[in-house]
Amino acid sequence: MRYSKYLLPTLKEIPSEAEVPSHQLMLRAGMIRKLTSGIYSYLPLGLRSIRKVEGIIREEMNRAGAIEVLLPIVLPAELWQETHRWEEYGKELLRFKDRHNRDYCMGPTQEEVITDIARREIRSYRQMPINLFQIQTKFRDEIRPRFGVMRAREFIMKDGYSFDVDEKNADESYQKMYDAYSRVFARCGLKFKVVEAESGLIGGHFSHEFMVLAETGEEIIVSCTHCSYAANIEKAEFKRSDRTSRSEDPNLFKPLQKVRTPNQRTVEEVTQFLSVSPKELVKTLIFETDKGPIAALVRGDHEINEKKLKAILGTENLQLASEETVEEITHAPKGFAGPLGLSIPVLADLDIQSMVNFVTGGNQKDAHLLHVNIGRDFHISQFVDLRKFTQGDRCPLCGGETRWDKGIEVGHIFKLGTKYSKAMGAAYLDEQGKERIIVMGTYGIGVGRTVAAAIEQSYDEHGIIFPMPIAPFQVLILPVNMKIDLIRETAEELYRILLDEGVEVLLDDREETPGVKFKDADLIGIPLKLTLGERNLNKGLVEIKKRRTGEVLLIKKEEAVSGIREMIRMEIEG
Ligand code: ATP
Ligand code: MG
Repeated sequence: MRYSKYLLPTLKEIPSEAEVPSHQLMLRAGMIRKLTSGIYSYLPLGLRSIRKVEGIIREEMNRAGAIEVLLPIVLPAELWQETHRWEEYGKELLRFKDRHNRDYCMGPTQEEVITDIARREIRSYRQMPINLFQIQTKFRDEIRPRFGVMRAREFIMKDGYSFDVDEKNADESYQKMYDAYSRVFARCGLKFKVVEAESGLIGGHFSHEFMVLAETGEEIIVSCTHCSYAANIEKAEFKRSDRTSRSEDPNLFKPLQKVRTPNQRTVEEVTQFLSVSPKELVKTLIFETDKGPIAALVRGDHEINEKKLKAILGTENLQLASEETVEEITHAPKGFAGPLGLSIPVLADLDIQSMVNFVTGGNQKDAHLLHVNIGRDFHISQFVDLRKFTQGDRCPLCGGETRWDKGIEVGHIFKLGTKYSKAMGAAYLDEQGKERIIVMGTYGIGVGRTVAAAIEQSYDEHGIIFPMPIAPFQVLILPVNMKIDLIRETAEELYRILLDEGVEVLLDDREETPGVKFKDADLIGIPLKLTLGERNLNKGLVEIKKRRTGEVLLIKKEEAVSGIREMIRMEIEG
C-alpha cells in the first residue's frame, strides 16, 4: 500500500474525549472514527488489524473443528420470548418495530437463533458434537459506552455455540474451546490470564474469562501466589477465617446507644465521625427482588456480591432498592438503614456471626446505633456467604496469599447446559431411539476489544507498538526524501519485491519532511521500519529498526528482503 493513496488520517493532538491510551491511539493513528456514542467506523488501518484477529480466530476455530455460519442481526421478539429473555434482558437489548408493528431486537448475542437452528436441523446423536461459530456485528445498548471500541454499543464479536449429547461430551467441547481460545490470544501476542468466572455456588467451574493484563482494565483478577487459582473478583471465593462464632458471655454486650450522626451516610463518613473502624460497623442494604424486598448485611469494609445473593435467593431479578422503598421500609432516608425492627427477611454475611457491639444505621434520619448485638437487639433470618473477595483474603484452594491484577475481558466461555435447548425444545434421538435434550456451550471473543487490549498492553509515549501477528502492516518503508532518485528508486524496488514475496508493506511515498514521516511511523506502530537515507544507500546499506525494542540494524540492500522475512517469521512464530 502507498501511503499517499491511502486513507490514514493521523492526529497530532490527543482527542479530549479519549480517556485510555488505546482509545487515544486508535483515534490518533487513524484506525477508528466515532459516529456517535459507542458507535465507530473502522478506517483502513484499523480494519486491517481487525481482519488479522479474525483470521487467527478462524484458523483456530477450524483447527478445533468448529464450523462457520452467519446468523441474522435483526431478531424477532417471539424467539426471545420463548426463553423469557425478551422480558429479562433489560435495556441493553435494543428493541424496535417493523412496518407491521411487529417487535424485533438487534442481536446482542445469538443463543436463541442458533438453538432454533439446532432444534430444526439436529435430529440424531450422530450429528453431534457440533460447534457452530460466526464473526458478526453485535449491538448492546451499553449504559456507559467508553474507551472507544473497548466498550462500544455496536461491536464485532466472534460467537460460537457447541451442541453435545450429554454433559460429559459437553465438557470435552468446552475444553476444546478453552484450548482454542488460549491459542488465539497467545497468537495475538497478548499477555493474558484465564480466570474462573463462576462461583462454586452455582455448581462447578464452568465459565472462564480470558483477561488481558493491563493497568486500565476494568476487571479485577484475583490470583493465588502459591497455586494456580485465579478468578474474577466478582466471582472469587476465599478461605473464611476460623472465627465464625462469637463469645456468648452477656457481660460482653454493652448497652445499646443511639447517637446523632447528622448527614453522615457512607461507611467512611460514619466511621470517621464516630472514630471507629469500618470493621466495627455493619452495613444494611435493602434490595428489591421479584420475591419482595430483603435486607442484606455485610461488615463495613466488605462489599455485597450480588451474584451470590441472586444465587441464594434463586432469582436473577434483584437490584438495590430505590430511595423511596428504603424510606418506606426503614422509615429513614438512604444512609441510615439498620437491621433493628425490620419486617423483611434479614440475611447476614458469615463474617458478622462473630461480631459484638457493632455500629448500624438507626432507621431514623441523622442517627446511628452503637453496641448493637445479634439476638439481643434483632434476629437474622439466615447467615450466608454474601460478600465479595477483599484485599487480604486467602486462596480458597490452598489458603495461600493472593494478588490483584487489573484485566480486560477479551473472551468468555460458558457451559450452558440445557438452559436454552430445554426452553426451546432442542432435542435429539439417542442410540436407543430415546428423545434427549441437547447440552450446549457458548463462547465469545470481542474482536475490536482484542485489538484495543493489545494496544493497551503495548505502546509508548510515541505511539502504538503492534505485536507482529495483528499489525496492520508488517513493514513500513520510509524513504526520507522521495525527490532523490537513488532513494525513490530503491524504495520502489524494495516495495515491489516485498509485495511479491507476500510481505504486508506500507510505503511512505508522501512528500513530507522526514520529521513528519518518523513521527507518523512511531504513532502507527508498524513492527519493522525500513529507513532509506542517502548516506547509507551510497554505501549499499539500509536501516531496519524494530519498533518494540528500538534495535537498529544496518544491512546490505540485497539482504534487506530476506532479513525482513526472517524477522517477521521469528516474531509470528514467537
Ligand atoms: P462485559 O462484562 O465486559 O460487559 P460481557 O460479559 O457482557 O462483557 P459477553 O457477553 O461474555 O461479555 O461477550 C463476549 C465478549 O464480547 C466479551 O468477552 C468481550 O470481549 C466482548 N464484548 C462484550 N461487550 C462488549 C462491548 N460493549 N464492546 C466491545 N466488546 C464487547
Ligand atoms: Mg456486558
